[in-house]
Amino acid sequence: MRALARLAPPLLLATALVCATVGPAGASALPPPKVPEAVGYGGAVASVDADATAAGIEVLRRGGNAVDAAVATAAALGVTEPYSAGIGGGGYFVHYDVATGRVSTLDGRETASRSADQNLFLENGKPLPFNDAVTSGLSVGVPGTSATWEKALQLWGTRSLGEVLKPAERIADQGFTVDQTFQDQTVANQDRFKDFPATAALFLPGGRPPAVGSTLRNPDLAATYRELGDQGTQALYRGPIGADIVRTVQQPPVDPGSGRSARPGKVDAADLAAYQVSHQRPTHVAYRDYDVYGIAPSSSGGTTTGEALGILEDTELSRADSTQYYHRFLESSRIAFADRNRWVGDPRFFDVPTAQLLSPRFAQARACLISPDHALTSPLAPGDPRHPADCASEGPAVAESYEGTSTTHLTVADRWGNIVSYTLTIEQTGGSGITVPGRGFLLNNELTDFSFTPVTPGVPDPNLPGPGKRPRSSLSPTIVLRDGEPLLAAGSPGGATIITTVLQVLLGRLDRGLSLEQAIAAPRASQRNNALTQAEPAFLALPERARLEALGHAFASTPEIGAATGVERLPDGRWAAAAEPVRRGGGSAAVVRPVG
Ligand code: GLU
Repeated sequence: MRALARLAPPLLLATALVCATVGPAGASALPPPKVPEAVGYGGAVASVDADATAAGIEVLRRGGNAVDAAVATAAALGVTEPYSAGIGGGGYFVHYDVATGRVSTLDGRETASRSADQNLFLENGKPLPFNDAVTSGLSVGVPGTSATWEKALQLWGTRSLGEVLKPAERIADQGFTVDQTFQDQTVANQDRFKDFPATAALFLPGGRPPAVGSTLRNPDLAATYRELGDQGTQALYRGPIGADIVRTVQQPPVDPGSGRSARPGKVDAADLAAYQVSHQRPTHVAYRDYDVYGIAPSSSGGTTTGEALGILEDTELSRADSTQYYHRFLESSRIAFADRNRWVGDPRFFDVPTAQLLSPRFAQARACLISPDHALTSPLAPGDPRHPADCASEGPAVAESYEGTSTTHLTVADRWGNIVSYTLTIEQTGGSGITVPGRGFLLNNELTDFSFTPVTPGVPDPNLPGPGKRPRSSLSPTIVLRDGEPLLAAGSPGGATIITTVLQVLLGRLDRGLSLEQAIAAPRASQRNNALTQAEPAFLALPERARLEALGHAFASTPEIGAATGVERLPDGRWAAAAEPVRRGGGSAAVVRPVG
């Protein structure tokens, strides 16, 4: 069977200085131990963080469903993983509804101001230096995360927003234990965090990154969550939280003595009031015996993983030797990225050929390029999905623009069989670096995901900024069904490597006989239509490396790629939750009633 497409303000700096408190090790309850796999009944949660996973399990245990638990887990990640996600950011939510058998998605992507245009990141006709854009009000898009939570609960949840925010409020009030990853991420951001008093007060207590083992509290965020719980997200989109966001974006609260200038942004109260979560159809491909559902544009996640799967459909990967398996995996993602870079952007501004990118005919036309004997040369030109022709290309190659490696992913299943796969982000680790004073959360820098100028002169770029436009994402929360029944859900952080990570996890699990946990732990490589394939040291130590190099693959070492999580329904009805054993300090998997 081939892949079938079925598209489917002046700031009161003083208020900031009281917003975080730090205590000695042991001042709060220690988080539950991190476990990369858990098996049992009653529902399952996997996230990067033990407190967040425990928040989701608490909601499941009290009878909440997967959506209730997913929002509780996400809100807790906003406390314990504040540099990766939170209500200052956005994300994409995929939901399998056991009652209808349907998969639906929410696009809660951050959105440019309606006053933005394609020159958003140009000054005197020249693109801003990337880092100046990152740490600025200019890069802040209207956040979509709290609207996503509210919408998901309205559509599919059984608990109120106020109820599911309670565990996260508690963690924010009582504090969480700082681990090495959190400290490392703080150190990496210290130079800019120190220039924003509200950020420094929260994340540099005493002027330094918090010690490993100390307790970090965020009472401002607890209060913000309470306000959202009591008043709903109108407190953010049409109320006082929103007013604080707008003031902060338009006049970034930089320490006047720091010497830093942070460019102001354009987001205003009307932009916040106009924000809409888009409830949209997922991407769908039939891959072997499976139905694979993902996120349609504005993310490139579903189209790119889906196209790569389509390209691989006619190759018996389960029987291929390991070198050919890796070769085909790398080639399929190389080709899919050539097409993604040319054709995918916000579909309300660019006629994205989503169905065509996922069509079996296009997959066949692109698979034609792959030879068992030698690797393709990147950058590879895109194909034309609307007029697929075997081995043909359309126009010049379009380079990949820079994307970081931040973000966080969570996966939840409940006792009834509903599933959520949810990836959320504030873009770069630490986002814009700008905390909304008195509110306890960082603002995103998601708009730097736009191309600042056309990536290839003369070629239309679907990802230029525009009024009310969403920047192209790589987030790839995915749900897989088999025979109409839920099988698994997975996703990962990691910028553009998210796409290749999700693809590699799917291939490992569906084609190569790995368990979901093994597929998540496996050594990783990421080919995105670049001359060099990024690869982890463990991948480069594989015996297949030399054979792949003999085929023409060339590698660049990178410390780690992604930090996936997933859940899977086992044949005997138990749920397995799976998380990273090592990357990002290891993730946390749990089930309501463990039965090993
Ligand atoms: N902004 C990226 C995206 O939406 C994710 C950020 C990252 O993971 O570095 O694709």
